[in-house]
Amino acid sequence: MKILVTGGAGFIGSHLCKFLLEKGHKVICLDNFFTGKKENIQQLERDSNFKVIAHDITDTKNSIDIKIPEGVDQIYNLACPASPVHYQSDAIETIKANTLGIINILEFAKLNGATVLQTSTSEIYGDPLEHPQKESYRGNVNTLGPRACYDEGKRVAETLFMDYHRKFDLSIRIARIFNTYGPNMDKNDGRVVSNFIAQALENKSITIYGDGSQTRSFCYVNDLIEGLYKLMSSGYNYPINLGNPGEFTILELAKKVIRLTDSDSEIINQNLPQDDPTRRKPDISLAIKKLSWNPTINLEEGLKRTISYFKDRH
Ligand code: UDP
Repeated sequence: MKILVTGGAGFIGSHLCKFLLEKGHKVICLDNFFTGKKENIQQLERDSNFKVIAHDITDTKNSIDIKIPEGVDQIYNLACPASPVHYQSDAIETIKANTLGIINILEFAKLNGATVLQTSTSEIYGDPLEHPQKESYRGNVNTLGPRACYDEGKRVAETLFMDYHRKFDLSIRIARIFNTYGPNMDKNDGRVVSNFIAQALENKSITIYGDGSQTRSFCYVNDLIEGLYKLMSSGYNYPINLGNPGEFTILELAKKVIRLTDSDSEIINQNLPQDDPTRRKPDISLAIKKLSWNPTINLEEGLKRTISYFKDRH
């Protein structure tokens, strides 16, 4: 199949491109290189089935079909900055990616009769009042806060997907991705796993925002990729959680990283960002039932692999 991966040079996108090439597909990677990195896809460029196109999905003058006139069978949309530091650095661009950009992708999918998968997010649940979060939970999001450009952006993106499905019978998939980590994360990504590992390896202070009692559930990237692929291959047109239900406090994460890196770093506390969700854990019973998917790599093992990548690269 010919498959388009938007945001294909990013952390998750680059793993997905590699996985799809290994399955024997032709892969077109589209990226505006705002947070995506050439080095993430450098090795893939040797493969004749891989093509890279520099393009911004929000570009209205040059539409996606001008860039890819030969069409595609499937689309994975990962084109959106995902770290709070990046998505808040230009909030309006983030909203554009999730509105204008989404419409451009959906129109391109319609034109091609392609199945299109949206990488949505656990952020659509906001600071959840239901725990763990099931797909039926409608969320608790501050429309006016600094995270809203991403949270509300991803919510309206889901709405657009559903409306194209209803109106045009477009074949859609919606993955609600929980915190993901692994190789190809940028050292300066600003997210907790990359920050802690980079700090620990340099024996710098580990920066815990708040008291570290907030929780997250961390999924290793290879598990996530399996889940995305299985979702695409399913006929399921509704949102589905993809994440590892193992829930850890940020303080627990910091201690694990210090132990696994044998670091001398001390832990320091900094201000908790506004609207930082207090806890997050996916209920993945739907993914188990519909996709026979269940993550296999626990936090300890995933951290070891990620630390080894950071040691080699940074
Ligand atoms: N966090 C932290 N120190 C850091 C970076 C993040 O304590 O150096 C916290 C952050 O406040 C949040 C959690 O770790 O509670 C996860 O943050 P991240 O930005 O990785 O993801 P998200 O908030 O989008 O889940």
